[in-house]
Amino acid sequence: MKIYNTMSKEKEEFVPIEEGKIRMYVCGPTVYNLIHIGNARPMIVFDTFRRFMEYKGYQVKYVSNYTDVDDKIIKAAVEEGVDCQTITKRYIAEVEKDMADLNIEAASAHPKATEEIGGMVSLIEDLQKKGFAYAVDGTVYYDTTAFKPYGKLSHKNMEDLQSGLRELKVSGEEEKKSPTDFVLWKPKKMGEPYWNSPWSEGRPGWHTECCVMAPKYCGGALDIHAGGEDLIFPHHENEIAQYEAAHGEQFARYWMHNAFINIDNKKMSKSLGNFFTVRDVTSQFDPMVLRFYMLSAHYRSPLNFSKELMQSAKASLDRILSCIWRLEDLLPRLKEQGMSKEEEEALKKVEEYTALFSEKMEDDLNTADAITQIFELVRLANSTVNEESSKDFGSIMKESIAVLVHVLGIRTEKKEEKLDERLEEKVNALIAKRQEAKKNKDFTEADRIRDELLEMGIALKDTRNGVEWQKI
Ligand SMILES: [Zn+2]
Repeated sequence: MKIYNTMSKEKEEFVPIEEGKIRMYVCGPTVYNLIHIGNARPMIVFDTFRRFMEYKGYQVKYVSNYTDVDDKIIKAAVEEGVDCQTITKRYIAEVEKDMADLNIEAASAHPKATEEIGGMVSLIEDLQKKGFAYAVDGTVYYDTTAFKPYGKLSHKNMEDLQSGLRELKVSGEEEKKSPTDFVLWKPKKMGEPYWNSPWSEGRPGWHTECCVMAPKYCGGALDIHAGGEDLIFPHHENEIAQYEAAHGEQFARYWMHNAFINIDNKKMSKSLGNFFTVRDVTSQFDPMVLRFYMLSAHYRSPLNFSKELMQSAKASLDRILSCIWRLEDLLPRLKEQGMSKEEEEALKKVEEYTALFSEKMEDDLNTADAITQIFELVRLANSTVNEESSKDFGSIMKESIAVLVHVLGIRTEKKEEKLDERLEEKVNALIAKRQEAKKNKDFTEADRIRDELLEMGIALKDTRNGVEWQKI
């Protein structure tokens, strides 16, 4: 397996710390709203990496955290007039729902920052003792000038970093010795959640979470640390500075980062109004289409997202799935007979494509080219398996395709019900909205909703028993 390591900027042969085992950590989401498709990309990509390494026989310890204390969470709680836990509990449940929809395997552990504060306080104390941290009026900063390799992951040099950041003074952090120094512990403000510490009642900075939770739940230093490319600096750089200063050993051997998602070739942002949550997309498309779509590009390439591209991903995935389903239907009718010469020849091709699939995946997780091999298998199955085929041949063909599709984390069972359930939910919500509009004598709005439903292929009938609907 070759992995592109952000640290060396090269593809390197993967050699784990312990033979046959992988300790892997992926930075998880801050839980204050529904996750967007940009959050879903690392989840899908690195879950696929994990599945492939398991397919290759590795035992993978896969840890991903929830950041459940953060300024954004506090802001969301204040706006709603509830406590932070109400927000984080709600959105952890929502993330779990999205992950289940996207067929992302549960991690070996999903630690939450608020349950690991003790470990973070100990780490900060240790850093202070070793001369890598200093406290000013209850705030503790990391002294980046004390850690010589600072900047090694992002390949930035200290002077450039400092002059770049000098202009960007964060208010309340004027007492920092160097512009690159970052907060390890900050005192509470009125109404904020807090924990006790030797410095003040307060909370740890975000960068301290992962370097405490990752070694604790992975069982030591990491083979692979992964996340979105926006985390390289400062988040991952700061994690390295803390872990390596405190433990005197390398934090992670390989650093993997996925690229961004663009929407219609523009950067996705809330202010541009081109912002999609996973839920927005999965209410229109099967979540497996989103997963397949994300894997159709290499994880280090920026991915463009549009409805048209999703439609074409759907058509591609349908080709694979309908091939599997046709073989499933055919199998019980196939003959118990020895394989023909042609079938034996075709099996050699199956082996060839299966080996190529692995080869592509082993080249820094080149899912795009690996998928091409699945299409080769589909083409082969479509042209060779028919009513006259032997049962052995038919079932090997079906299995060979299904196994690889499962390595990509794509479900192959038919599941029209779930989509119907979603559609029904949406239709019922719109009908309720239309009833409300009618009650308020807003007939324009009521008609608009009826048209919207018509566009979705749903016709309404006002009956004595209320509104009924049917698919047209
Ligand atoms: Zn992290």
